[in-house]
Amino acid sequence: MKKNLLFFTVPLSLLLFSLTGCVKLNCPLPEDLNRTVKKETLSSSSASADIKRNNWRMDDLCANRISFVDNGKKWNLILVRNTKQPNGPFWFLPHDNENAALDAAVYASKKYGGGFLAVEANGNRYAGGKDPNRNFKAGSHYSQTIFKIIDTFKPKQMPYLTLHNNKNGHSKFGGEGTVSMRVTSNKTKSYPAGKIAIGSKKGLHDEDSLVYLAGKNTNQKKINALNSQGLNVKYERVSRGSNDNSMSNYIALYKSRHGYVNIEVESGDSSTQKKMIDKVMKLIYRGEL
Ligand SMILES: [Zn+2]
Repeated sequence: MKKNLLFFTVPLSLLLFSLTGCVKLNCPLPEDLNRTVKKETLSSSSASADIKRNNWRMDDLCANRISFVDNGKKWNLILVRNTKQPNGPFWFLPHDNENAALDAAVYASKKYGGGFLAVEANGNRYAGGKDPNRNFKAGSHYSQTIFKIIDTFKPKQMPYLTLHNNKNGHSKFGGEGTVSMRVTSNKTKSYPAGKIAIGSKKGLHDEDSLVYLAGKNTNQKKINALNSQGLNVKYERVSRGSNDNSMSNYIALYKSRHGYVNIEVESGDSSTQKKMIDKVMKLIYRGEL
């Protein structure tokens, strides 16, 4: 009797587990990419905290760990792709401490296909003392490799897409808190969609919820399109003299015809970030971004 019960409950729990879905691991990479990066092995979904946290909702998604060496430093990255719907937006996440952004990337990859590339840094912003988003020097091996990976998956007509989180508020003393609708400079201007809300997790109108664009010249059309969706915009005007080696600056200076869209919210507010993804995707499909 006990044995029969076991025979019944084990397959049942396996069935339930497969219905709620979980991630596939270590899928084959495109031939071309095999020459650019090394394929590492993910022994289980727990080998990455980000995948472990999201595993239950990662059916249709496959995760790989890949690596490359730049200037003697090894970079590890998690590559996630929607195997059912490989064509779709492709996101870059440089900061491993921004968990809400990663959870939103899982949502986007399931809903719209495509996938994302995330830098691994043991859950920290910096990887071996380097900010992964201040390492895009012109012509560097790092820049070339990251863009090679992204360009392998990004549909040609879509902009470069990134997801970030920032700290609540608008500290002017450096760090992540500096990104806010209430902080402007001579090169970065704010274009609010309405009244800016101050405080923690105030949704689309929060001072920390914003779509960050960058270019050599202000693109008022894109700003208007985003504002009409109720989205705050920050626009950075980039010049060679002000280049901070971030991805946004690299794209504005060297890959400007593709465009750059960064969706940013306060840490922990993935629900607002998902709403913003839906609005941005609507504009991308309409050809307005
Ligand atoms: Zn970030």
